Amino acid sequence: MNTIAHFLINLFIIGTIYPIGLKEVIIVLVASTIIDIDHIFTYFSAKHPNKKMFHSAKIRTKFHELYGIIFFSIIAGLLVILGVSKMIVQLIFLSYLLHIFVDFLFVHSRPMYPFDKTEISFDLFKFKRRVWLEIAICIYLGGVLCLILLN
Ligand SMILES: [Zn+2]
Repeated sequence: MNTIAHFLINLFIIGTIYPIGLKEVIIVLVASTIIDIDHIFTYFSAKHPNKKMFHSAKIRTKFHELYGIIFFSIIAGLLVILGVSKMIVQLIFLSYLLHIFVDFLFVHSRPMYPFDKTEISFDLFKFKRRVWLEIAICIYLGGVLCLILLN
């Protein structure tokens, strides 16, 4: 799923749970998208990077899978213990979890990585259809967001 779609999907799901202001939108934007920064590092560190690699689970680091969920759960718990606002921690962690869940549904993933490297995919949409779905999500949710901001 592309970065804009991740942000918009997370914003609309989280917006139904929490009251959202500009600060919360920025938190959701950063927390929903920053996890994909690992694609860039993995792609450029690969010996023979190609376009196909970008669409496999191999482009992601362990922070995109079970290891990351456990790691960020511990970090979220520590932040709450250290006195960071529970709502901010929830926004960050929920944005991360929703990103992982959407990736799990729509792209190839290795849910038990690094313990098991088996790559799975629900294959809900072939690549071209998924791209069109992502474009449709961006146009639709982006349009709804514009309407909300204009009111
Ligand atoms: Zn991702």
